Amino acid sequence: MSQQREQPAPPRTRRPSSRRTYRVAAKRRECDLIVSLDLVPVDGEPLRPFMPGQHLTFSLAVPGERRPLIRNYSFADCPEETDHYRITVKKEPPPPDQPELPPGIGSLYLHDTVQVGDELEAIGPRGEFHLLMESTRPVVLLSGGVGLAPMVSIFKHLAQSASPRPVWYIHGCQTGLLHALRDDIQGALASNPNSHAVTFYDAPGPEDAQGEDYDYAGFITAEHLTAHVPDIADAECYVCGPAPFMQAMYRTLIGLGVGEEQILYEFFGPSTILKGE
Ligand SMILES: Cc1cc2nc3c(=O)[nH]c(=O)nc-3n(C[C@H](O)[C@H](O)[C@H](O)COP(=O)(O)OP(=O)(O)OC[C@H]3O[C@@H](n4cnc5c(N)ncnc54)[C@H](O)[C@@H]3O)c2cc1C
Repeated sequence: MSQQREQPAPPRTRRPSSRRTYRVAAKRRECDLIVSLDLVPVDGEPLRPFMPGQHLTFSLAVPGERRPLIRNYSFADCPEETDHYRITVKKEPPPPDQPELPPGIGSLYLHDTVQVGDELEAIGPRGEFHLLMESTRPVVLLSGGVGLAPMVSIFKHLAQSASPRPVWYIHGCQTGLLHALRDDIQGALASNPNSHAVTFYDAPGPEDAQGEDYDYAGFITAEHLTAHVPDIADAECYVCGPAPFMQAMYRTLIGLGVGEEQILYEFFGPSTILKGE
């Protein structure tokens, strides 16, 4: 009589994007309105790999809200950082023309309520916006405000993977009070001989030093891109920022002969805004 041996249970497979709980391992104020959170999975398993530019979708249990709030936050560090994920969150103020409205609920919760040791649930890594890993084209990264999070991930990845692709990172923000992740950008710049980075402040304050905190006053212009990025029409351009920034950059790049298919963008809001629809 043959005795059937008990089969070992198949390893539990988890879909790469399924829900996972993370503990906040560190929280840092980057600048006036921006904090970063370092997240580690509570199950103790390794981080799931991601491509620079992707994001996590959080289900935030904000006290007083009837349902969890669903909010997306991009990875703000590169995939080579393997012991935690970092997200970088701007506290969303009321719209300038309606200051009587309350600030953003999810970002306020992450800024003011969530502390080190708290747990957050998220799905991911996910998202179609990411560095095209097989491409060999030069890379142009254009970010406005907190749109810098996915760009810093890409910029650091190109440095840490010793990529031969030339990369130009052009970031715009209002003032030094809103300028985050400077050390990450400077570190990647110093270690990658193929990289270039400049910062524009559109309203520099008296405490902001040109040549130290920022390079140019004003907005990013077509003239700047033409003068500093050789063969921009051949580049792959990644764009992320507030709606007016996205519209301006899109028009500028098209005007410089960059093909529509070479412009990759992430909207932190509805994507119909880009082409003025
Ligand atoms: C793929 C993706 C990646 C993202 N990555 C990041 C990231 O890395 N970092 C980041 O900071 N953000 C990121 N975002 C944006 C983020 O998901 C949130 O949208 C953002 O934090 C605002 O959410 P909130 O809950 O704070 O604001 P909400 O509560 O959604 O409020 C949004 C705005 O509406 C205003 N408002 C409040 N009440 C009213 C009203 N009655 N009428 C009109 N307006 C009102 C608020 O003042 C605020 O300005 C990303 C978005 C996407 C889609």
